[in-house]
Amino acid sequence: MTRTLANTNATPAAGAGSALSRPVESLDGVGPTRAKAFRALGVKTLGDLLEYFPRAYQFESSERVISQLVPNDIQTARGQVVAVDYVPSRPRPRFEATIDDGTGKAGLVWFHGAYLRTRIHPGMNLRVQGKVSFFRNIPKFTNPRWWAVEETTERIEESRFRPVYPATGKLPSEAIQRIIEDHLESALAEVVEWFPAELLRKHKLLGRREAYRAIHRPADEPEAMRARRRIIYDELMLMQLGLGFGKRLRDGQLTAPMMRLDKLLDERIRKRFPFHLTGAQQNAVWEIARDLQSGRPMNRLLQGDVGSGKTVVALYAMLVGVANKLQSTLLAPTEVLAEQHYLTLSNLLRESSVTVELFTGRTKKQGGAKQGAAALKRLADGQVHIAVGTQALIQQDVGFANLGLVVVDEQHKLGVRQRAVLKGKGMSPHYLVMTATPIPRTLALSYFADFDVSVIDELPPGRQPIRTTWVRPAQADKAYDFVRKEVGAGRQAYVVLPQIDDNGLDDAKSVIVEHTRLSEGPLKGLRLGVLHGQMSTDEKHATMTQFRDRQLDVLVATTVIEVGIDVPNATVMLIDNAERFGLSQLHQLRGRVGRGSELSHCILVSDATGETAAARLKAMTSTNDGFQIAEMDLALRGPGEFFGTRQHGLPEFKLADVTNEMELLQQAKEDALALLANDPNLAKPEHRALREALAKQFEGTLDLAQIG
Ligand code: ADP
Ligand code: MG
Repeated sequence: MTRTLANTNATPAAGAGSALSRPVESLDGVGPTRAKAFRALGVKTLGDLLEYFPRAYQFESSERVISQLVPNDIQTARGQVVAVDYVPSRPRPRFEATIDDGTGKAGLVWFHGAYLRTRIHPGMNLRVQGKVSFFRNIPKFTNPRWWAVEETTERIEESRFRPVYPATGKLPSEAIQRIIEDHLESALAEVVEWFPAELLRKHKLLGRREAYRAIHRPADEPEAMRARRRIIYDELMLMQLGLGFGKRLRDGQLTAPMMRLDKLLDERIRKRFPFHLTGAQQNAVWEIARDLQSGRPMNRLLQGDVGSGKTVVALYAMLVGVANKLQSTLLAPTEVLAEQHYLTLSNLLRESSVTVELFTGRTKKQGGAKQGAAALKRLADGQVHIAVGTQALIQQDVGFANLGLVVVDEQHKLGVRQRAVLKGKGMSPHYLVMTATPIPRTLALSYFADFDVSVIDELPPGRQPIRTTWVRPAQADKAYDFVRKEVGAGRQAYVVLPQIDDNGLDDAKSVIVEHTRLSEGPLKGLRLGVLHGQMSTDEKHATMTQFRDRQLDVLVATTVIEVGIDVPNATVMLIDNAERFGLSQLHQLRGRVGRGSELSHCILVSDATGETAAARLKAMTSTNDGFQIAEMDLALRGPGEFFGTRQHGLPEFKLADVTNEMELLQQAKEDALALLANDPNLAKPEHRALREALAKQFEGTLDLAQIG
């Protein structure tokens, strides 16, 4: 698995002898228990501690006595609770308390504060902080922050601005702060500057050491923000430099088969398709054709909403390969999808001499080991032109005669690994990555910087926009009546639920339970099938085949149907507990309908009240545009979750949130390119620290043999 950058990220300075590599347990004030708690937070060394950044800052104003409180300022006071009251008025129930410090009384009010009834009692001492207003000469705090204190707890004499660290029960923020404080100076002594003073001046960036000091011990908020900005810049620069190196390596050193393509071949390929390519498909084909003829490895992302016709474009590229006596492989994320692709391609290539073969665990089992071995031999001989399978196909010990093109479907894990594997086998093919998840511009600039992108932003003619509605569970029966009606008219439907079986842990609906309920109730008499990830590949396959052959009316499923399933006769996608799904996921699910010429419907059933859940559902009803959906999803969730970082091996930043750092990101990209132009191997002495950090960061992730 690729190491995420977070593990090794931006370690401020060098080598083994450095104080930064001191283990945390050797630090004063850190015993074995604390050391263990630190390790659980990923902090193993002094260097890690230096990079354990505050998640927020808190301004603690000095405490005032109640008689000296003034209106409109944020102030801190304390006193004994002398009265409490809960006022359940609608729509804003409130919890009220009064504190007294001997100089006077202050009122406290928390709206929606029902939970405080069990927490704040008369006789307690509270410290409160918040904005003060006056009502009938009595100072009042509205929704103040509060802490229970002892009468003996020290008063805050001086205002301070202090860091709040991500903490655990065993290791509270205050303890982390104290330990960092104690060792900050010795750690800072090891922090070296990466960039020339001139560059820092130009972008108004703090020095590196200054930034590390200020992020932990800022004088005020603006200083903390300046520190963050510098450290984020460093994160983005490392990323961009790494990408720059990778791209240059490929551009400069790698070659890929130079394919030939002329008008005749182009016409021959097009004749295979039962329709005219859309303008957008046409453009993508041109861009791909140019890459294939260049002799340099294509590294292209083919991005288009579900149903926009990416597969056909990929097939075009594969057929160019065939004509050039080169094999292609199409890799899908799951075996079921590999089979779908296999069927699609076989269909389009009927009555041609092009041979397509499916390689999955299942085919081997079905045909026996002998057929499996025979197929592998045909692949190794070059008799198989197009091999369809999962990623296992190129990771395992499978031989190709002359692999020219790898098409990867719906995997953002971008071929760095696969490329290395294939290179090990002496192959350097072209790459085409198909994705229905549009890459928002900010991400395209960072994670996908070394990919060229083709966009299919047009659907094939005749498609009707999918009608999406959000209904409350109370109306679900009407929705099921509608499903019945569509089935009555000869159509099919999907019902999607968040989990396979009831796990007893939460009240999310499940496929198993709903299948029974619907069979006996709302959908009684219809032919219902079940599909989920715990079924064997054979069972899944059998069910999909039945559904495709219209032997089933309704498929009750989990999100296994999220990608690739292509049954144009299905016109209803009903998603129950819709609030449990991410926005991009909902959009993917919706893409399973609307694939034919009939009007299709997506029905979201949910009693969502939470703000973001409701925002997702509203977004779904307001647009069918995958790009808009992706932008909204990114805004709602942030990039890490957006792609599921772990799954895809994308880098994580400690501080940078690329959706908010557009300007700095652009700047970093320009600066990185300029730097590499000026010192291609970062060999100049002034770039030593940077080069070391880069080597460390990309260790094992990118093939950066020249550096480090
Ligand atoms: P994607 O992979 O982008 O989701 P597909 O390649 O599976 O989309 O295409 C979706 C459907 O549209 C398929 O049934 C395909 O045959 C059809 N299709 C693709 N391109 C065109 C076109 N230019 N005109 C009409 N139908 C098309
Ligand atoms: Mg597809």
